[in-house]
Amino acid sequence: MVVVHLRNVVFKEIVLARNLEPKCRQCRREGEKLFLKGEKCFTDKCAIERRAYPPGQHGQKKVRLSDYGVQLREKQKIRRIYGLLEKQFRNAYKLADSQRGVTGDNLLQLLESRLDNVAYLMGFGASRSEARQVVRHNSLLVNGKRVNIPSYIIKAGDVIEVRESSRSHLRLKASIESADNRNFPEWLEMDVKGMKGVFKAKPERSDLSSTINESLVVELYSK
Ligand code: SF4
Repeated sequence: MVVVHLRNVVFKEIVLARNLEPKCRQCRREGEKLFLKGEKCFTDKCAIERRAYPPGQHGQKKVRLSDYGVQLREKQKIRRIYGLLEKQFRNAYKLADSQRGVTGDNLLQLLESRLDNVAYLMGFGASRSEARQVVRHNSLLVNGKRVNIPSYIIKAGDVIEVRESSRSHLRLKASIESADNRNFPEWLEMDVKGMKGVFKAKPERSDLSSTINESLVVELYSK
């Protein structure tokens, strides 16, 4: 009995710790590409290219959202882009709110500075979720030390590199090449052959996507 009970607890934790909603469905819910599936997102197999309306029986009905609905959708969109659960996102917001400066800007900078996000931007994973797995599997070094915590905050000047033992992974090589073909963000300095990069500085708001409206999240959480 005890064993079953413990197994349930572990299973429950695993289930609670992951968003199991199909990725393309999440994009369709938000009505735009969130780039959650790696290479497929850049092809015409992308679900948004085929069915750019919300999933479900009433997906094609026109719905007018309330102010609250608009704020909620924006929060969900940003949370899904970075692959965070509600509690993790709320904690990031609390931290951003406690810092000096504009809360919305702080929030985006915090999300951008997470190790899983930086690893994704450097091409150490075809998507943020894949990059998170790479981090969890101890495949990365930060300033020469092994770090396997996806939420670890990277600081300006930190060097992130693939461990020697993981450098031969074909999938990793392919994702770095793809990221290289799409060009790396300006705030990163990459050595593609060496499979390493420097996080030069936190991105400015103007460097980040203009389709994100973080002020709606601030309005939502300030209620
Ligand atoms: Fe979203 Fe990528 Fe799926 Fe397109 S392929 S719907 S961008 S996860």
